[in-house]
Amino acid sequence: MPTSELTKMKKKIIDEIGNFKESHRFEHDVFYQAVEEVLLSIAPLLVADKRYNINAIVRRLAVPDRIIKFKVEWMDDNQNIQVNTGYRVQFNNTLGPYKGGLRFHPTVNEGILKFLGFEQIFKNALTGLPIGGAKGGSNFDPKGKSDFEVMKFCSSFMRELHKYIGPRMDVPAGDIGVGGREIGYLFGEYKKITSTFDGVLTGKPNFFGGSLMRPQATGYGVVYFTETMLEVEGKETLAGKICAVSGAGNVALYTIEKLIELGAIPVTCTDSKGTIYDARGVDIELLQDLKFNRRASLEEYVKVHPEAQYIPVSEYPKGGHAVWNIECHAAFPCATQNELTEVDAKNLVKNGCVSVSEGANMPSTPEAIEVFLKHKLCFAPAKAANAGGVAVSNFEMGQNAAMQRWTFEEVDNRLKETMQYICHSVADTAKEYGVEGNYVDGANISAFKKIADAMIAEGI
Ligand code: NDP
Repeated sequence: MPTSELTKMKKKIIDEIGNFKESHRFEHDVFYQAVEEVLLSIAPLLVADKRYNINAIVRRLAVPDRIIKFKVEWMDDNQNIQVNTGYRVQFNNTLGPYKGGLRFHPTVNEGILKFLGFEQIFKNALTGLPIGGAKGGSNFDPKGKSDFEVMKFCSSFMRELHKYIGPRMDVPAGDIGVGGREIGYLFGEYKKITSTFDGVLTGKPNFFGGSLMRPQATGYGVVYFTETMLEVEGKETLAGKICAVSGAGNVALYTIEKLIELGAIPVTCTDSKGTIYDARGVDIELLQDLKFNRRASLEEYVKVHPEAQYIPVSEYPKGGHAVWNIECHAAFPCATQNELTEVDAKNLVKNGCVSVSEGANMPSTPEAIEVFLKHKLCFAPAKAANAGGVAVSNFEMGQNAAMQRWTFEEVDNRLKETMQYICHSVADTAKEYGVEGNYVDGANISAFKKIADAMIAEGI
């Protein structure tokens, strides 16, 4: 492909993004960040195949099909009426019903959900399964609320959301702040309103239709992807290696669990207040008890293991995070977006880190990714590495539709196969487009082709 044409295309894309940002100033920065990354990756494809421009695929793909925004009123335990905002961003259903999680966190706004929904289209396409992309949630904070308050909120949220979802239309799942408890309450309300027992949500508890390993799927999937990537790139496996993991939620805990199972030594975890560094390896049972049962702060960890270190946020390095300043072979950012900065990336490189796999959605800043690619680290972007969650959600949809139940082993085997499939197709695409070893470009090109070809075939 002529370099001049590619450079021209990249410049055109950057100009277009610049104009777009200028006209929507101060709005939705994370969304632009996600779109920009994809567009720069697919520039070679846009040059090679004119159909994508003729059919205006980029412009059509960057705009959600619809954004639903609604008021959620509920009563707290002190009989005070509270008001939150609920959203569902139905981004693109070219490949299948809208699918993507719900996030309950005070930082939730339309821009964050647009970024997550946009990423979800690509992630879902990479699985090769028939699912479109969506995301939703609310600025409601489940932290510190009683079970009864969470139930009241979920019921009220679903009273509006149920109008827009269905097993063949839109199937939400969990995300930050939405686990089995919240999905259970949401499902219960949907069932009451509609008098149907439909597979309309995934991530349900397994005693009423949930997949046996949906909670584990994202974390386990990240580790399966990493093992495959290391093999493809001719690197050593994770067994016996020190690993740094951030987060202490669903994705982080099951990443840690699988790493331990494979003989690796995860030595860190984090929450929004601080970092635990336990050089002998994280005590996963204690962590699960703290986070899943007691919903406690990580500070509690050192009460049981005083030999471990607790580093509060106030003591993090300037512009960075303590967790990425610890010597490790492999890093797994599993907390939230933009939690791994350029400073962090440079520290990881300096400390000899060989691979970085994103469990969270877009946890590395663009500057951090540049550092990884420049230093030839094996870098697994979120849309490929953390697709295990949505893949198992799709299996759950299949099981619900067929009124069947699969064993843990069946789901685990299918998950492993899916992660291996994604990894190989991303690596092969990168090679085909002359960017061998670049999993960011490989993932974006591979997913874009699948969605864009289907959009062309379906017409406008
Ligand atoms: P959880 O709510 O279970 O856990 C989130 C973790 O991240 C908590 O430890 C939380 O700490 C920490 N965290 C959240 N926000 C911040 C912040 N602003 N700064 C520092 N720490 C923060 O969420 P999940 O584990 O489900 O999700 C984690 C990430 O993985 C998200 O990016 C999500 O979109 C992504 N993901 C999740 C999937 C899933 O199946 N659950 C699927 C694919 C991606 P604290 O408790 O103190 O707030």
